[in-house]
Amino acid sequence: MSDNQETNKDTALYPPIEPISAGIKGRCPRCGQGKLFNGLLTVKPSCANCGLDYGFEDSGDGPVVFVLLIMGFLVIGLAFWMEVNFQPPFWLQALIWLPVAVIGGVALTRMLKGVLITLQFANKAKQGKLDRD
Ligand SMILES: [Zn+2]
Repeated sequence: MSDNQETNKDTALYPPIEPISAGIKGRCPRCGQGKLFNGLLTVKPSCANCGLDYGFEDSGDGPVVFVLLIMGFLVIGLAFWMEVNFQPPFWLQALIWLPVAVIGGVALTRMLKGVLITLQFANKAKQGKLDRD
């Protein structure tokens, strides 16, 4: 079956879903119902609801780049702001910002990984191949 026939079958069986909200919620990119993750960040082998094989998933380092930029900006910016305005002791800065960075980083990684996977599915993104013919 060609990709076009597969796509037509998919759109007939599963109405299009909003990929960004499905990704943030960690839902299947095709049906929007089944869970995408097994635990915190591990992608399940397939959707329990519609049976979509998640083998196509290849978000790689993509989500981590955004997490580093966003969380780095927020945490370092807020730590500097707190230092300038309140001069708290170092241990208090560490007590506040280390858990924020770790918990926020994992939560944001999960959301962005879900979004990149659902967008990869919605846009039919695949590994590049050379056309030698
Ligand atoms: Zn599904």
